[in-house]
Parts: sequence; structure tokens; C-alpha cells
Amino acid sequence: MEPDRAAMTVMGRLVLDRVVDRTDRLPDRPATSSVSPDAEAELTRSLPAPPPAHAGDLGTLLARLDEAADCALETAGPGHLAYIPGSGLYTAALAEFYNRAVNRYGGITSVAPAFAAIEESVIRWMAQDVCGLPTGSGGVLTSGGSMATFTATVAARQQKLGEELGDGTVYTTAFAHHSVAKAARLAGIRAAHVRTVPHTSDLRMDPDAAAAMIRADRHAGRRPFLLVATAGTTDTGTIDPLPELAALAHDEGLWFHIDAAYGGFFRLTTRGSQRLTGLPEADSITLDPHKTLFMPFGTGAVVVRDIAALHAAHTGTGDYLQDSDSTNAIPDSSHLGAELTRETRGIRAWLPLHLHGVDAFRNALDEKLDLAEHVHRALSGIAELEVPLQPDLSTVIFRYRPADASEPAAEEADRRTRHLLERINAHRRVVLSSTRIDGRYTLRLCVVSHRTHHDRIDEALKIIATEIRSGTEVPTSRARS
Ligand SMILES: *Cc1c(COP(=O)(O)O)cnc(C)c1O
Repeated sequence: MEPDRAAMTVMGRLVLDRVVDRTDRLPDRPATSSVSPDAEAELTRSLPAPPPAHAGDLGTLLARLDEAADCALETAGPGHLAYIPGSGLYTAALAEFYNRAVNRYGGITSVAPAFAAIEESVIRWMAQDVCGLPTGSGGVLTSGGSMATFTATVAARQQKLGEELGDGTVYTTAFAHHSVAKAARLAGIRAAHVRTVPHTSDLRMDPDAAAAMIRADRHAGRRPFLLVATAGTTDTGTIDPLPELAALAHDEGLWFHIDAAYGGFFRLTTRGSQRLTGLPEADSITLDPHKTLFMPFGTGAVVVRDIAALHAAHTGTGDYLQDSDSTNAIPDSSHLGAELTRETRGIRAWLPLHLHGVDAFRNALDEKLDLAEHVHRALSGIAELEVPLQPDLSTVIFRYRPADASEPAAEEADRRTRHLLERINAHRRVVLSSTRIDGRYTLRLCVVSHRTHHDRIDEALKIIATEIRSGTEVPTSRARS
């Protein structure tokens, strides 16, 4: 378990060679699993054997890992346009290797104060420079957006409800990520008290409807305490009217959370900052560096206007920690969230940010906005398609246009759209995903990966156009097979 210098080097090389090779081949790799369904079933059956008592061979084990990694959507590659892509910077992986090897304790500042300062610099940049929150703001790096929203929900609950949770009520829309309702449930809020505010025809939260709902609920004895807006919905990338909702939350005394897991980092771009006005007025914001900052999965963030609110909800200690010094200017991450022992999560963001410079991230995000506008223009020119929304961010939605306004025609369009998705993805050069928008089956093309450029998007458009052409020619019975 403790290899010598020479062995460490040999082992490191083995891993590095495989990783470099994989990363280098990403553009040529299939966008879906490169393993046949049969081989995939065999692999997933054979892999979970218990560990042996005797030592194994690193080369053999790495080969196993490579096989297992192949048996997956190629989420790191340029063709991944499904869900919200998370591409994973090579330099973040290098930073993380270093971080894991030195293994500094990340839960309490005094144990590794300079590492804590590095992490704090990343959080401060996210809170103040990216989101525009004032001095006094701060936050904590989480494992993802869901944990970030949970952390914010607990802080809001603590500040607004204290220990009487029974009547606490939360407001969001049908397009909120499901982690909002889940966070409320985990925070002890009744499911019936997570209220769905109606949206306007452009899929944004209706502030007037929200105001009416909050007032009616309060009149009925509920305690409205949290308004959750989305800055870039997962379905369509739509941004709720943040300034109006901030004003409403302020007037009604609600905590204002913005789920900017997808959209937040677009504030680095000119277009993004124009569309994300109102972000600086939030009490708390969810960010997902493992989406729009191209970090490896497991990197989320919650930033808050007043760091004391996070502290008030999450502080905790034990006698065994009596020697740790908590008088640092940098707060212990363990007092800002649910975790105690953890890695210094900020290292994996700090290294790429300083190595590439913020402009590299800004330009990459700008490119995604350009590509989405390009996709929107191209798809809007296809007569068979409905392309209902101008994208706020980098997601374009589309579906077959129904023949008429009847229900059967809508169902037929849904069916054809579902088959279109299968046929596009069968090329294995790009992967798109689907959702339902106001009941209609809808495809979404989401550009987020730092590896997706114009060439792959043009290829995707060509595939879509080809499949629409052949879909029009192929009779229904054959399209179904
Ligand atoms: C992805 C996403 C989440 C959930 O974040 P995880 O990192 O997957 O936990 C929450 N909200 C929005 C808008 C998202 O796109």
C-alpha cells in the first residue's frame, strides 16, 4: 500500500497514458456507449465481484476500468448535447490528482489554512465577481446543484421559520428542477407546501400569480418563506423574471433563492449578464461548476448574500474538536454545510481558473451562446418543425409541428418526435434528450461542453435535417420498427 518512488512513477504513468489516450480520442469516440448491449449486460454482470484477498495487477485493473468507462454515454465528449452536459476539464482532473495525493483536510480552516484560503478565493469570485453579490457574501462548494439548493433551503428555513416548520411554504414553477422540491422535503417541508406558481406563455414564472398565491396562502394560515426562481431551466434554459421576483420576495419577506445551476456562469459573458439581471438581488444562488464551468462531476456551489445565514443553520461541533481554532477570517466549511470531512474542493476549480484565465471560460461560454443561436436559426428554417422559443441560454427545443390543432394530431406529432430522437441518436455522433413542455413531447439540444464546437453542431444539424427528410418519406409502419 506504500509504493516506493520508482513504483509510484510507473503506476502514475500507466494511469496518465490511459487518460491522455482516452481524452485525445474523445472527438472520435461514439457519443453513446461504445459497447454493444450484450457486452454491456455481460460487463455489468461480471464487474461487481467482491475484492480478492490477494493483490491484483494495475494494468489489468485499469483495462477493466477502461471497459467500464466505455460502457456509458460519452458525457465528456463533444457530441453530448443531452440533459445539461458536464465535460470535465483535463486540468481540473490534474488538480484533483494533486489534491487527493496531498490529501489536505478541507473541513476546518485551521488544519490547512492556505488551502482553505485558495478555496475561499474561488467562492468569493463566484459570489462577488460572477453573481454580483455584495461584500459579506460567501458560500460553500458542494457536491452538486442538488446539495447546494438543499443547503440554501435549510438556511432559508432556519432564518424564516426557526423550529416551527409545519406551515412553511415554498414557491416555484413547474419548470423548477426536481431538486427544489426534494430539498424542501429533506428540509422538513410538507410536499403540499411546495407550491407550483403558474408560468406565462414564454415559460417564465408569472410574478403576479406568485404574489396572489403567496397572499392567499398567508391569509389561509400558511407561512410563505421561500421563493425559488430558476435562472436557466433544465428543460429550456429559460430565465425567470428575476428583478420582479426579487422585489416580490423582498416585499413579502420571503427568502429569494435562484437556481442558477445551469445559467449562473453565463453571467461572465456580455449577453449572459444582460439576461441575468437580478442575480445580485438573491439571498442565495445555486451554481454548478460541473456544468457551465466544465469541472468534473461532484463540483457544485451555493453562494449567499449573508454568510452568517449559512453559519446559523449549519454550525455544529463536538468535544473532540475542542483544540481546533475557529477564529480564522475564513469560515470553516463544516459550519456552512452538512459535511465535516471533505477534500478542499476548490483546488480543482482554482488551478484551471488561474492556468487558463477567466477569459478562456468567458469565451467558451460565449461560443455556446453563438452555437445555440445558430441551431435556433437553422431549425427554425425547417418547415416540419416547431421551434417554440428563442433560447435565453444554450438550449434549443424543437418538435414536429402537428398537422392541425386536434388532440390526435398532437399525439401523432409526439410519436414522430420520439422516433426522431431515436433516429438522431442512432448515428452515435451526438446525443440529444427530450422533455415535455406543457404536455407535448419535445426534443432539446443543449450545448455546454467546452469540447463542442461549430463542426459538431453542424454535423448535428445535418443529421437532424437528414432524419426529418427520411422521416417524411418513410411510412409510419416502417418508422416504428
Ligand atoms: C442540474 C441541475 C440541478 C441539479 O444539480 P446536480 O448537480 O445534478 O445535483 C438543479 N437545477 C438545475 C436548473 C439544473 O440544471
